[in-house]
Amino acid sequence: MTKGGDVPVIEIRNLHKSYGQLEVLKGVDMVAPKGHVVSLIGSSGSGKSTLLRCCNLLEDSQDGEILFEGEAVHWRGQGLGRHPADKAQVTRIRTNLSMVFQQFNLWSHMTILQNVMEAPVTVLKRNPAEVEKTAREYLAKVGIGDKADAWPAQLSGGQQQRAAIARALCMEPRALLFDEPTSALDPELEQEVVKVIKALAEEGRTMILVTHDMRLAADVSDHVVFLHKGKIEEEGPPERLFGNPQTERLRGFLSATA
Ligand code: ADP
Ligand code: MG
Repeated sequence: MTKGGDVPVIEIRNLHKSYGQLEVLKGVDMVAPKGHVVSLIGSSGSGKSTLLRCCNLLEDSQDGEILFEGEAVHWRGQGLGRHPADKAQVTRIRTNLSMVFQQFNLWSHMTILQNVMEAPVTVLKRNPAEVEKTAREYLAKVGIGDKADAWPAQLSGGQQQRAAIARALCMEPRALLFDEPTSALDPELEQEVVKVIKALAEEGRTMILVTHDMRLAADVSDHVVFLHKGKIEEEGPPERLFGNPQTERLRGFLSATA
């Protein structure tokens, strides 16, 4: 897969988002070119999850533009009343940006295979037999091919998170959005998941990665964005952000997380 050049998978321009009186995103710009990994770092409460959830329209926003493969989201209303106007567009964007959450969020009443197959079959209406084949391939790819018939509760946290990644991949999305995918895991299980994320980055998948793991961000990112109180304080290639931070705030953040 070639890097860059094409229309970005996701582009955010001047995004503003408030929860009531609380302004959480104060004019954020972000671009995720095809085949690139963009990492979002910053203190707890800086707006990382909100930004990620705005990308796939899990959250409304009050101002600014969101473009998916060059196509601007259509909005209805203004300010606090603004919301996406076109349901088909929302579905298209959401199914093309698969999210992996900190808490895995597997359905406990379904086997691992059923979890992975569910959305492609019910939302995308794909052929179940074909989906099963793809699902098994992705389970094997993340190293839990033998867990297809297990229940989520029978798996370790690291295995559950890898199942959640297989589930996201089975949607064949244009980009993967990770929200602190390793934060809920013990250090030894964390590495299983880190390995999978690195492999996905190496095969040229487009990803936005919210992480507290600075080593992971340094290893996989093409671009790193440091959010501070809803604004981009500093951004750039990982070598510069981690090797030669320009702002006092980023220097402080990095020394606190080291
Ligand atoms: P981060 O992921 O960087 O820790 P978040 O995006 O989760 O930050 O949160 C940013 C700010 O928005 C925080 O002050 C948080 O308390 C607030 N917030 C997040 N979600 C909601 C919500 N659903 N309702 C009200 N406030 C929220
Ligand atoms: Mg968060």
